[in-house]
Amino acid sequence: VRAKTMELIEAPTVSYDQVGGLEDQIREVSETVELPLTQPELFAEIGVEPPKGVLLFGPPGTGKTLIAKAVAHHSRATFIHMSGSELVHKFIGEGAQLVRDIFQMARDKAPAIVFIDEIDSVGSIRTHDGTTGSAEVNRTMMQLLAELDGFRARGDVKVIAATNRIDILDPALLRPGRFDRIIEIPMPNFDGRLAILSIHTAKMKMSPEVDLRVIAKETEGASGADLKSIAVEAGMMAIRRRGTAVTPEDFKRAVDKVLGEEMLPRVDES
Ligand code: ATP
Repeated sequence: VRAKTMELIEAPTVSYDQVGGLEDQIREVSETVELPLTQPELFAEIGVEPPKGVLLFGPPGTGKTLIAKAVAHHSRATFIHMSGSELVHKFIGEGAQLVRDIFQMARDKAPAIVFIDEIDSVGSIRTHDGTTGSAEVNRTMMQLLAELDGFRARGDVKVIAATNRIDILDPALLRPGRFDRIIEIPMPNFDGRLAILSIHTAKMKMSPEVDLRVIAKETEGASGADLKSIAVEAGMMAIRRRGTAVTPEDFKRAVDKVLGEEMLPRVDES
């Protein structure tokens, strides 16, 4: 299928322990997506129709993609990553067909998880305002809704969708029967930041003076992606000065660099 719009991974390697914090969210996603894939008999036995998908929402860089990959890993499922914004902006006139192709591929490669990033690009109320291209986006959206409604009978394809903008999402997507759970992935709190910093520094050589709790405390407002950048930057600082271990000073500079940039006005990419 047309490259780039989608990424296909036969069972990603990310596991739940590489996701910092978010224990409740992971439990919920795993119950909704992983359990029906790995133990469908539990649902059949009790006579409950297995869920078909979840919608994750929350700020950028908080681990939505990471969770989706980890669920695919633990479900031993093919992971098909489709970008809502590319679907709309890059493949004008082909969106609906691509959606069809992607779900067909998911059925061929089942068990499979279709991860739809930035679903608001396809299914936002803004796209129905009569501006150029909206008829095309509407067709893509209709196809997506048709796929979401159509595959319940087949138990081995699940959908995880993600958005930073649940506020502009088309209510049609939120209607019962489309996504079984709508789960918030929030910015990390202190414990979350500490867990994320631990994950991303696990393989780094650090001086004994480094206290990740201090860094977690000083990075209020940082996302998981920011914290990963901070860890990488701290490592780079140590390399640049040819140090043998990462020091608190390296972290301090890294925090300033990463969060200092954050404070500048940001251009909305969408
Ligand atoms: P977006 O909405 O921008 O697509 P996202 O929520 O999908 O963001 P991810 O792509 O999952 O964010 O996160 C980007 C990177 O930041 C991840 O690959 C990971 O390295 C790091 N990261 C983010 N959140 C976490 C977390 N909770 N634990 C560990 N690493 C994280």
